[in-house]
Amino acid sequence: MEEEDLRRNVSLAEISDGRLYGCNDMVKADCHGCVGCADCCRGMGNSVILDPLDLYRLEAGLGKGLQVLLEEGMAELNVVDGCVLPNLRMAGQKESCVFLNAEGRCSIHEFRPGICRLFPLGRYYENGDFKYILQIHECPAGNRSKVKVSRWIDTPQQEQNHEFIRQWHYLLKDLEGLMEGCEEESLAKQVNMAVLHVFYLRRYETDRDFYEQFGERCERFVQAFL
Ligand code: SF4
Ligand code: SF4
Repeated sequence: MEEEDLRRNVSLAEISDGRLYGCNDMVKADCHGCVGCADCCRGMGNSVILDPLDLYRLEAGLGKGLQVLLEEGMAELNVVDGCVLPNLRMAGQKESCVFLNAEGRCSIHEFRPGICRLFPLGRYYENGDFKYILQIHECPAGNRSKVKVSRWIDTPQQEQNHEFIRQWHYLLKDLEGLMEGCEEESLAKQVNMAVLHVFYLRRYETDRDFYEQFGERCERFVQAFL
């Protein structure tokens, strides 16, 4: 969501406190367990986009790959800046995430997607890398306290995770550029099918390190398309 806002030329000052944060910085993001609030789990449209690590997490936590998530209505496919990507589905009158339970809590908290781990933080990409930002209009909790960014994100193997997020973002950007500059509709279709197959539909081995598997898939993909 944050990347999209920034791509659409919303200035950093309009949506954040204007600061860029690294993993070791303290940021006023801790909303103390979100008691009584589920605002960022409702009405999010198609913005809870899943990346390959999210698929690995869901595979490990639910034992379900993308094919099943799509068939069971938990995920759907949408076009984001020219790329077809999966996102978690919002459903019902309140447009709630399919994983929000009756008590208004996340039923997959342990293996929730990366975007959910970040909130209300976002990512700001520049010069081939990224920093975190604190979005100021997204989370109504008034009593937030300071927390270390890495602790808030709650993701092990921080360095590898940072490298993965960076690589994935710029790979999608390159593909977007490739498809934009090409008049052949069939190429865009071919690239999108390949992204879905290589990074999403082919199930991850949950007894193996994710980053290792991502590296292997990335290498093969880049050789074939870039
Ligand atoms: S909007 Fe803020 S307080 Fe509410 S659920 Fe999301 S992160 Fe928690
Ligand atoms: S996966 Fe969990 S945290 Fe993320 S939007 Fe759905 S209910 Fe909310």
